[in-house]
Amino acid sequence: MERKILLKEDEMPRYWYNILPDMPTPVKPPINPKTMKPINPDDLKAIFPSEIIEQEMSSQREISIPQEVLDIYAIWRPTPLVRAYNLEKALGTPAKIYYKNESVSPAGSHKPNTAIAQAYYNKKEGITTLTTETGAGQWGSALALAGALLGLNVRVYMVKVSYEQKPFRRSMIHLWGAEVYPSPSDKTEAGRRALEENPDNPGSLGLAISEAVEDAATHDNTNYALGSVLNHVLLHQTVIGLEAQKQFEKIGDYPDVIFAPCGGGSNLGGVGLPFIRDKINGKDVRVVAVEPASCPTLTKGIFTYDYADVAMMTPLLYMYTLGHKFMPPSIHAGGLRYHGDSPILSQLRKDGLLDAVAYNQTEVFEAGALFAKTEGIVPAPETCHAIKGAVDEALKAKEEGKEKTILINFSGHGHFDMTSYDKFLSGEMKDYEYPEKEIKKALDYLPKV
Ligand SMILES: *Cc1c(COP(=O)(O)O)cnc(C)c1O
Repeated sequence: MERKILLKEDEMPRYWYNILPDMPTPVKPPINPKTMKPINPDDLKAIFPSEIIEQEMSSQREISIPQEVLDIYAIWRPTPLVRAYNLEKALGTPAKIYYKNESVSPAGSHKPNTAIAQAYYNKKEGITTLTTETGAGQWGSALALAGALLGLNVRVYMVKVSYEQKPFRRSMIHLWGAEVYPSPSDKTEAGRRALEENPDNPGSLGLAISEAVEDAATHDNTNYALGSVLNHVLLHQTVIGLEAQKQFEKIGDYPDVIFAPCGGGSNLGGVGLPFIRDKINGKDVRVVAVEPASCPTLTKGIFTYDYADVAMMTPLLYMYTLGHKFMPPSIHAGGLRYHGDSPILSQLRKDGLLDAVAYNQTEVFEAGALFAKTEGIVPAPETCHAIKGAVDEALKAKEEGKEKTILINFSGHGHFDMTSYDKFLSGEMKDYEYPEKEIKKALDYLPKV
């Protein structure tokens, strides 16, 4: 009856898993917004280092993790795989529930797994400054952490609602020595244009991306770092799933179903892609993306080429999208408010290798509160989505009288989200109707490719 399944530092995976060569249907290439033709990798050199560009399109199945990155990972990795006995008991389920605890990183989420790697490759190529966007503040703080540990300047454009709702994420970013601006800001063309149209614009991830990319493209020795969506980000995150596989092997178990929250898809890809490799090779395992009902990209979106940002500056990605003009309601899971999704995960979804469900935020917080009361850790609002998926699966197992092994990717803790928990506890939290009209309108703006 072991509760925590731990790995030693020297059992940490030495490589990341790249799923590109194993995909039944290849991912379609990004499109250059100026020429509307598939992108030339050289076009990306204005904002990314060459090793990252190579990883983005690599056909190599296993990519070595540099020693310097492993050394920093070892501050908190390998992360524990924990059996949620108390949650199982509270649910009265015959299912075994495990969670992979990515909240133990210094920034409190899975995001440093790629932040450290990206900062490393940029530094290696002489870059001195990284720019980025952040929604709930988790990615911004993860990159600020990476900047502090590797000695790079970091400038963060933070979605305005979060900037106002989460002052302590801001403090963390400052403490690690980075700069942070509310987006839309007056620092960029994209920001100034958005403010002109609507001075009360609450911001969105898509808009903040436009600002960060513009900043990087217009300053010397400055590159852009993206916290999700792109292939190299999912690649770096696979350290999660590779560790989990070793941990399950240790106890002679294997998950039947895996739940992860899905914003742009990095933690889901991170935990899920190594298992999807097994699935492609015939193993019976289900990987499920859990989304907010108010931003249901994989469950209600369209699979097509679309811009990754509002200002239509970024390349077009072939992905599930709600339209780059879609402004999701200001739900508490800020990290899940993105109109698009990872092209890799989108293609896997299309090919039936990935499942998806969507929930409203109140029911999601109920599941998170149950987790906090039984297992003790306060989950991030994003993470609550995965917990809700797992709770429903465990209750279904109870109904059917089936044993089942469930894995939750515990993507982050919610210590900076207590305002949201207060809203939940006081009953002030509201659910948003499925924004059908807004999505329909946004889909009218899909680019013709
Ligand atoms: C950012 C974030 C997410 C969503 O982003 P993905 O790229 O989809 O993983 C989920 N959980 C936490 C804790 C996050 O910080």
